[in-house]
Amino acid sequence: MPDCLFCGIASGAVPATLVLESARTLAFRDINPQAPIHVLVIPRDHVRDLAAAAADEGLLAEIATQAHQVAVAEGIADTGYRVVFNTGGHAGQTVHHVHAHVLGGRPMSWPPG
Ligand code: AMP
Ligand code: ZN
Repeated sequence: MPDCLFCGIASGAVPATLVLESARTLAFRDINPQAPIHVLVIPRDHVRDLAAAAADEGLLAEIATQAHQVAVAEGIADTGYRVVFNTGGHAGQTVHHVHAHVLGGRPMSWPPG
């Protein structure tokens, strides 16, 4: 999937600020942060969206675990944080390589826009 931006980040071809790494997943800072802490967690392999990720045994658990580890490492685990998968058009998914947004460092409103 050579034209996938996040595959480029996973391979090192596209620069990113890494936060955490594991065997199957990678966490890096969002280039356009929507909160003081805004980190994306992705699988290293190309998986297009949440539906495809759900079909991969154990992958979502690894992404969720790394999202929490990011919150601990970034010092927002105690104050609270939000984890979001934008999935499909109505949710505004723009990069079709599944990713969890980890957002924190400020109070967040509900419902989201
Ligand atoms: P989504 O709209 O859920 O698909 O989120 C895609 C996210 O990727 C957005 O929050 C973008 O700011 C972020 N993004 C796009 N390009 C880059 C990049 N080169 N490095 C880091 N984050 C990026
Ligand atoms: Zn990809």
